[in-house]
Amino acid sequence: MKPFHPTPKTLMGPGPSDVPARILEAMARPTVGHLDPQFIALMDEIKSLLRFAFQTENALTFPVSAPGSAGMETCFVNLIEPGDTVVVCVNGVFGGRMVENVTRAGATAVVISDDWGKPVDLQKVEDTLKSHPEAKILAFVHAETSTGVLSDAKALCALAREHDCLSIVDAVTSLGGVPVKVDEWGVDAIYSGTQKCLSVPPGLSPISFGPRAIASIEARVTPVQSWFLDLSLVMNYWQGEGGRSYHHTAPINAMYALHEGLLMLHEEGLEAAFARHQTQHEALRDGLEDLGFSFLVEPEYRLPQLNTVHIPERVTDEAAIRKNLLEKHDLEIGAGLGALAGKVWRIGLMGASACPANVEKCLGALKDELG
Ligand SMILES: *Cc1c(COP(=O)(O)O)cnc(C)c1O
Repeated sequence: MKPFHPTPKTLMGPGPSDVPARILEAMARPTVGHLDPQFIALMDEIKSLLRFAFQTENALTFPVSAPGSAGMETCFVNLIEPGDTVVVCVNGVFGGRMVENVTRAGATAVVISDDWGKPVDLQKVEDTLKSHPEAKILAFVHAETSTGVLSDAKALCALAREHDCLSIVDAVTSLGGVPVKVDEWGVDAIYSGTQKCLSVPPGLSPISFGPRAIASIEARVTPVQSWFLDLSLVMNYWQGEGGRSYHHTAPINAMYALHEGLLMLHEEGLEAAFARHQTQHEALRDGLEDLGFSFLVEPEYRLPQLNTVHIPERVTDEAAIRKNLLEKHDLEIGAGLGALAGKVWRIGLMGASACPANVEKCLGALKDELG
């Protein structure tokens, strides 16, 4: 055995995305103690940069020390008590995982299903909230990475408020790629990930909780089922007044990477980052359509950062083509998930991967492989 030196790949799948050298270099800096004042100052900067990214003033905004799925679980286990009712919108894989979280936390999930490739239907949500006045939470995925669909988070959060529900929003793929306006939209609890449009290695999950969500946690009568994800304990580590108490050891070097990635987003500016994702999406779309591909998702609710295209009929072995892309072209694209397996490819333009060189490389490699 010897040290591991992977061949670099161009990452154009559903995440992780390409990690800029600047972020990798940040990660290689000396590890300090997690209660070292230098590190605590870094934690404060990360919190304020995350508030910038989420467009919020929420004090309770920080990265959970585990990937996006842990942010998802943090939202559900802290806001749910056994016996609660949660309305969950399912239009792809990740909505399905939300249902799992709800039932495992001892609550009843009222599921609203929409076709894969379509956004969450607002009328169905309104009807369901009307017929379930006992519902405490409305949960949905803003950007469904399994299909490439953007749902209307602003309208969904407004519906949740009208019916006195808290909102839980999955922004794993949306944050940094399309607008996510936590305060303006009145989002109550939201989680994201680092390895999609933030272009930071996987392993952390930024979350933000608003005042209504915090009041709901404070009013709990049962303890949170998960010790590690219990916000009442983690909060003392991330924002303890007059000195922080040990809860767990933060993944210190991963925090360096997140800080650097957020600094890069801050330097570029949110609007510029969104515009870059859109411009690169349009260039990729034009090239893919020239090659004969068609999109699964209608343009009005298509995600720029995740392009789902039907595999042309002349392709008999789609897995072999992805293997050639990876091995001969050092290019990763994503396969279809669930019902879409074997039928679509998912081409990511997330974070640093949304650049002209990647668009060109992807189109050139596909042309080569498809003949
Ligand atoms: C990737 C993703 C997740 C899960 O994040 P992990 O970091 O893989 O745990 C959750 N929701 C959506 C929409 C995602 O794209």
